[in-house]
Amino acid sequence: MRTSAPDTHDDLRAALRGLCAEFPAEYHRKHGAAETYPEDFIDALTRAGWLAAMIPEEYGGSGLGLAEASVVMEEINRAGGNAGHCHGQMYNMSTLLRHGSDDQKARFLPRIASGELRLQSMAVTEPTTGTDTTKLRTTATRKGDRYVINGQKVWISRVQHSDLMILLARTTPLAEVTRKADGLSVFLVELDQAIGRGMQVKPIANMVGHETNELFFDDLDIPADALIGEEGRGFRYILDGLNAERTLIAAECIGDGYWFLDKAAAYASEREVFGRPIGQNQGIQFPLARAYAHLEAANLMRFEACRRFDAQLPAGDQANMAKLLAADASWEAANAAMQTFGGFGFAQEYDIERKFRETRLYQVAPISTNLILSYLAEHVLGLPRSF
Ligand SMILES: Cc1cc2nc3c(=O)[nH]c(=O)nc-3n(C[C@H](O)[C@H](O)[C@H](O)COP(=O)(O)OP(=O)(O)OC[C@H]3O[C@@H](n4cnc5c(N)ncnc54)[C@H](O)[C@@H]3O)c2cc1C
Repeated sequence: MRTSAPDTHDDLRAALRGLCAEFPAEYHRKHGAAETYPEDFIDALTRAGWLAAMIPEEYGGSGLGLAEASVVMEEINRAGGNAGHCHGQMYNMSTLLRHGSDDQKARFLPRIASGELRLQSMAVTEPTTGTDTTKLRTTATRKGDRYVINGQKVWISRVQHSDLMILLARTTPLAEVTRKADGLSVFLVELDQAIGRGMQVKPIANMVGHETNELFFDDLDIPADALIGEEGRGFRYILDGLNAERTLIAAECIGDGYWFLDKAAAYASEREVFGRPIGQNQGIQFPLARAYAHLEAANLMRFEACRRFDAQLPAGDQANMAKLLAADASWEAANAAMQTFGGFGFAQEYDIERKFRETRLYQVAPISTNLILSYLAEHVLGLPRSF
């Protein structure tokens, strides 16, 4: 399918398409139905170095930018897979890369680049405070050369398939800080040292078979050198990483959108009802054409967000808009495809229903549409803060 986006990643796309072709639709369908983790696929991506794309060459990675990382995510979804099983590794990386100490980078990045360690998890969301992140209640209390963690998290993904986890916790009580974003800190938790030793993991069964969990911390003891950057500045570090996350999720939505349109256009050209292909009816054509136009516009914003992030320019506006536009466009494409397939859209063997559920998630996570609109209203349009 033609695209208007400035795309110079032909070689990268060809390599990814080759790898993804080894894991056809049946593979993803089987894991989707059984709600199991696609280990072989993620291992193949790791072995080929794709999940180390953003690690600098000096640490054994490919030294690529967010644009290239986003193409990796897009191609996985465009091939019918679900990058949600591994995207954490890409966006968590930027927190460690940009704010980790030289010692942390030297200790962990080469082992992540080689595939020995996985950095797939980030623990921010909590059950009682939800989107109101600065009110989170998990605490990290300094005791000599250790921090002691207490509290609870929810919806923390891929813990069973990660060795390291980025954790956001409060180190100074909310009542004692001038700005509510202060006093939060980020830690790099080594999961084999944590699970069963103060941290409990409880899986959450869910609509998309996404590996995600509740976490309970009861006096989890971690070394003080697990702290990333300065104590109390963690919320800013996380926000920086979230711009990468939003852009990567936008790319996944773009991949989903093209996948839906490819499938729907092919089906509409073949399926004959009333003696002609259903795609000859404008009632079928127009929703697909409209979704394509919206997807293309979202794709341009996605590459602009990548450009700004890679140039170390402020990218918050573009990352948020890319996520909003791409999630809306993929959801529109999903609905248009579902309608085009008629009853067969509901049959598992066509994969429409699986991808439909998967792309619906992006209206809510990792940030909901409302919260992006609030950001734009307040930070771009200058409207009064609503919360
Ligand atoms: C499958 C899955 C995987 C996830 N993985 C992770 C993970 O790995 N790590 C992690 O930290 N989190 C993860 N999350 C959590 C996700 O980021 C949150 O679910 C999401 O940010 C929404 O937060 P919430 O569920 O607490 O909703 P709430 O904050 O309870 O909000 C509920 C609804 O109310 C709306 N709302 C709330 N306040 C306002 C307001 N002021 N104005 C307008 N609307 C408002 C929201 O937009 C939302 O639609 C995951 C979630 C899911 C479902």
